[in-house]
Amino acid sequence: MHLLYLDDSGSVLNRNEEYFVLGGVCVPETSVRWLSHKLDELACEIDPQVPTQVEFHAATIYNGRDDPWKQLKRREDRITVIKRVLLTLEGAFSDIVIFACAIHKASYPNQDPVMMAFEDLSSRFNIYLRNLSVDKKQYGLIVLDKSSYESSLQSLARSFRAQGNRWGDYLKSICEVPLFVDSRASRITQLADHIAYAVFRRYNANDLTYFNCVEGRFYQDGGVMHGLAHRQTYNDRCTCPACLTRRNAR
Ligand SMILES: [Zn+2]
Repeated sequence: MHLLYLDDSGSVLNRNEEYFVLGGVCVPETSVRWLSHKLDELACEIDPQVPTQVEFHAATIYNGRDDPWKQLKRREDRITVIKRVLLTLEGAFSDIVIFACAIHKASYPNQDPVMMAFEDLSSRFNIYLRNLSVDKKQYGLIVLDKSSYESSLQSLARSFRAQGNRWGDYLKSICEVPLFVDSRASRITQLADHIAYAVFRRYNANDLTYFNCVEGRFYQDGGVMHGLAHRQTYNDRCTCPACLTRRNAR
């Protein structure tokens, strides 16, 4: 079983933001404890007394208004924490890969970016699992943060199972509806939040600070970065790795 933990970054309604991002990390069940433990170790460093109170949420860390982040007076130190959360993936087995979909909202004025991103990632995850299934069929489960879009995503996943998505690509490798968890209790959901944030900053603000920490972890096959999707209609010569590797592969 492979678990795809997803979280979102960027607001659908905020007109000051051009992008909405859904992104996260795919972890085989055998590596879930290892990865959670790496993040627990980092939480222990931040607050050795009550590490369970430390919740990694990238935007909150950056703003530094709440405890324990307001103890880190310098912004550089808070940026370092966000990067260290992302860098827990360094040294992980190569079968831990990341996925993200960045939607340029104005390119698709009549579509719901949340639905679009979820549909895109479900399909990518399904293809990933199918490609893994050489000797034995591999199954996947999508894990989402409870606070983000529970009802709309759940009903969407149900209709995917019943009808397949718009490409007619049935998501047979993915289990039932997504599992919703409380991000406060799930370290890997917190890591998913950071991955979504890294991708959001890359596309929305051209800020590569965080993206560079994880770029090499996106699911790739045959020189194409299948794990990352940049959905936009305004630049057909875009040189981001998602667009560039697909164009080069044609
Ligand atoms: Zn692009």
